[in-house]
Amino acid sequence: MNLHPRDANYADPSLHSHGLYIGGAWLPGSGIPIVDPSTAKVIAEVPDASIEDALRAVDAAEAAAAGWRTTSPRQRAEILRRWFSLMTDHSEELAVLVSLENGKALPDARGELAYAAEFFRWYAEEAVRVPGEFRHAPSGANHILVDHDPIGISVLITPWNFPAAMATRKIGPALAAGCTVILKPASETPLTAYAMARLGAEAGVPPGVVNVLTTSKPGPVVSAMLDDPRVRKLSFTGSTGVGRILLAEAARTVVSCSMELGGNAPFLVFDDADLEAALDGAMIAKMRNAGEACTAANRFYVQAGIHDTFVAGLTKRMEALKVGPGIDPATQVGPMITTKAVSKIDRLVSEAISRGAKVRTGGSPLSGNGYFYPPTVLENVPTDAEIAHEEIFGPVAPVYRFETEEEAIRLANNTEYGLAAYVYSRDLSRALRVGRGIESGMIAINRGLMSDPAAPFGGAKQSGLGREGGVSGILEFMEPKYFAVNF
Ligand code: NAD
Repeated sequence: MNLHPRDANYADPSLHSHGLYIGGAWLPGSGIPIVDPSTAKVIAEVPDASIEDALRAVDAAEAAAAGWRTTSPRQRAEILRRWFSLMTDHSEELAVLVSLENGKALPDARGELAYAAEFFRWYAEEAVRVPGEFRHAPSGANHILVDHDPIGISVLITPWNFPAAMATRKIGPALAAGCTVILKPASETPLTAYAMARLGAEAGVPPGVVNVLTTSKPGPVVSAMLDDPRVRKLSFTGSTGVGRILLAEAARTVVSCSMELGGNAPFLVFDDADLEAALDGAMIAKMRNAGEACTAANRFYVQAGIHDTFVAGLTKRMEALKVGPGIDPATQVGPMITTKAVSKIDRLVSEAISRGAKVRTGGSPLSGNGYFYPPTVLENVPTDAEIAHEEIFGPVAPVYRFETEEEAIRLANNTEYGLAAYVYSRDLSRALRVGRGIESGMIAINRGLMSDPAAPFGGAKQSGLGREGGVSGILEFMEPKYFAVNF
């Protein structure tokens, strides 16, 4: 694959998947068209796996499991480190692929690739540092020794909004832990996952350790894998709605679940905040990936004394953004993933307007071939509007006014979600106090970005279960084993 933004050819056959990736072999197939959201044109077609294909992938993962779990941590680390290097060497081609299939602006795609590759480097480092325990039993009668085993065959399911990073955030720790995996990427954006699998093989990942399959029937296909008692782990990133279904399905075989689900991040700006810093942070928290991020600021709560200045500054910055095809080097905001996504944003914005919200910029879909929605700022939004309770997943910033710290915390917590939150204040003790009051897995203080492979990413409440990245991420793919020992 050799593609440059200048000569990107949508019909380039190297973009086409060469089949399902099972047991180290590419099994040809077709059936799922891949659409470039910037043009609404089909750019590739990938295979549509059946239940039988999925169970074949479980066979392959099982055949490779014993060999992989008994490789030394150092060997696994070296392979992941090589995969990191290959991802870095090929980051530009991969960024173009992400931009083509997802639509995101190239700078966002480049940022994603750097972030994605880091999970392989981080877990190359963590593979050799799995903790254990050894201590006296409180009774003094014996010793307690705790070791960690790889949990077993893991099914990894990823969404379309970060086609590279959501996959490496699971594959990295799973492989470091000694597990073999079946990755099912989103049908909208599987080309990056297949391309990364090729690099994995080149890095030395043995056949069957990583299997990749695409399907237009995720429900029955994933269900069949979860019903196979050889599968012991489900790591899912996606919507809370699908997460709930999968948790119920996993219950049948008591499969361990890690769930990275939806968000509804509040972005709190206090009167004493550094206004320019808050606006810079707001633009990152809202507009990275054109708002199609689970951590995207979904609700801006701004204290009364700074509210009007903040809205004016945000409007000016949002208006200045260039919307266009993701692959165009001048683009800052790409299209949404599908026409359905645009309709959802339109519905939320229209409902807010009908309830009294005022449009400062944007406010309705753009015409043309791709799936474009303009950067939008809304003020005077009622706090019970639908847009305050649903994930917008687009470039829309609704701004709400608050008076007191207590009110800000109450508003921030008025959601079933608890993934991410942002707090801007020059008073660090206030920022920390507010952060402690917010029911959320991640709090960014005076920053618009919190994602970091070295930090535990995940949510409270209905935003998820478990953490990815950081020191704890590898333990999601391990089973503690306790030995009661007499010397
Ligand atoms: P989605 O839930 O529709 O799909 C996610 C994945 O699940 C896809 O691979 C899809 O094919 C698969 N899927 C769909 N129905 C299924 C079923 N019945 N059984 C098994 N698999 C099924 O989500 P999406 O629209 O692709 O992604 C957007 C959502 O993902 C947003 O809610 C966003 O907040 C969330 N997200 C969360 C994180 C996080 O880390 N918490 C990160 C990125 C995205």
